[in-house]
Amino acid sequence: MGKYVKAISQMGANQVVVKHEISGETCYAMIPRKYRDDFDFAEARSVTEGWCPFLLEEEGEYPCIIYDTAPKFCKDFQCCRMMVFDAEKIPVARVKGKDSVLTDDDTFSEWWKSTIAVLPDENWEEVASSLLEDKGYRAVWYD
Ligand code: SF4
Repeated sequence: MGKYVKAISQMGANQVVVKHEISGETCYAMIPRKYRDDFDFAEARSVTEGWCPFLLEEEGEYPCIIYDTAPKFCKDFQCCRMMVFDAEKIPVARVKGKDSVLTDDDTFSEWWKSTIAVLPDENWEEVASSLLEDKGYRAVWYD
């Protein structure tokens, strides 16, 4: 995706203008606090091929560091970031982000809105996994 996702300019320490060359959209992406020290705008801007400049290797996983504010194309392209399964291994929800959950289970949806969607952005994935586990669910992350 390095060919298509371009870091155009930086606005302060935490915001980057990103252009998606396929959809033509431009967005203002936020660099979450936990990634700010590692994010190098000059390096990101120099990427012309290969991996997307916003993909980071982190303890064997490859999260998108701007996922919550990434171009819409990215969000539409990826079916989800995480799946939630119940104790019988039945899929309960597809999660694209803290504020974007697809589920037919109204009870789960209400619980997610009042418990997970209100978490602070930093490390919300880890907290969500733990809260889901406490409720008997299993979270499987794809990045
Ligand atoms: S989802 Fe993130 S890492 Fe993937 S292409 Fe889009 S901006 Fe890059």
